[in-house]
Amino acid sequence: MGNKIAAIWLLIGLSACGTTNQQVVANLQSVDNPVLAKNVILMIGDGMGLGQITAGMYANGNHLNLERFPIVGLQKTYSYNNLITDSAASATAIACGVKTYNAAIGVNKDTVPVQSILEEAEIKGLKTGLIATSTIVHATPAAFISHQPMRSMYEFIAQDLLDSGIDLFIGGGYKFFNEQRHDEKSLIPKLERKGFTVSSLTHEELEDVNLANTKKLAYFTSNDSPIPEATGRDYLPKASIIAANFLNSHKKQGFFLMIEGSQIDWGGHANDTKYITSEVIDFDKAIGKMLDFAKKDKETLVIITADHETGGFAINPKSRMDSIQGAFTSSYHTGTMVPVFAYGPGSELFSGIYENTDIYHKMRKALGFDRAPVVSQ
Ligand code: MG
Ligand code: ZN
Repeated sequence: MGNKIAAIWLLIGLSACGTTNQQVVANLQSVDNPVLAKNVILMIGDGMGLGQITAGMYANGNHLNLERFPIVGLQKTYSYNNLITDSAASATAIACGVKTYNAAIGVNKDTVPVQSILEEAEIKGLKTGLIATSTIVHATPAAFISHQPMRSMYEFIAQDLLDSGIDLFIGGGYKFFNEQRHDEKSLIPKLERKGFTVSSLTHEELEDVNLANTKKLAYFTSNDSPIPEATGRDYLPKASIIAANFLNSHKKQGFFLMIEGSQIDWGGHANDTKYITSEVIDFDKAIGKMLDFAKKDKETLVIITADHETGGFAINPKSRMDSIQGAFTSSYHTGTMVPVFAYGPGSELFSGIYENTDIYHKMRKALGFDRAPVVSQ
């Protein structure tokens, strides 16, 4: 309503100045479709259902940064061929906006590649980044940058990452990029030729990377999968701040950053309550850092969601806040809806109940990607 009134005043004002019809149309378009968010930080807690969030919150003294989010929604996670999705199909739904078969990476149900929002962001001149606490070629990050018929094609996914225009990635899986590859052809010199500073240091040294002299950053936190938080992994909150500041250093373009708390899911598969709560709390620390960044920046949309629930996790009787008695109905994923939390410009799009594929469309809308280019004379 407010927009309509503003548009009418704009029309009157422009007519008085003898403005052409095309100009009026162009101005009306920008009034009706403002660019809402310059940056998007999408954070996916793999396997993070409501039970996992609740247990993490109680285990953390009845507090999570997630409570600071004003907008909460719910998304339906089922895939094209299975009511119970896997992480590849659900990540493809969120990244590319299509329901596909379980195990698909950035391809539709007919194995045809579908452009991801990260790839579209690259084309539109935004900086882009991926962070995970799994290997960086694992299903969730892979769906944003790769197009392969099967999630297990890790070395092909590594090649896709090399061929992409991504500016930063941080995660495990060095062995899929170096001479340990089956073809024994290291991708590292090629990454360096593309302008990447490549680090394969331990997580303690993460903050030692000199970002001022870094064009692009490839940071391998482990040779294979990173260790759980409970046994010493601590890079996720740190990496999230480094990435947001690094991608934001070219202020004009904006950025798209996906951060995954990968191992909440592994705690669910292992039916291990402590594994789940420690991973939720670690992920929530990174969430707090990104929310602080967005509150200061004012042009950043932060979205937190999960790809699916894992374990059919419940908080059973005899639980106390400091001692959760977890119970599980499965060692695999379940079909329950998962929550979505949003903060910042465009966050209002994320309330309600919708399909996982709608997250892709809502992010595009928030970034103004769904608009036709404004015609000006
Ligand atoms: Mg994952
Ligand atoms: Zn899983």
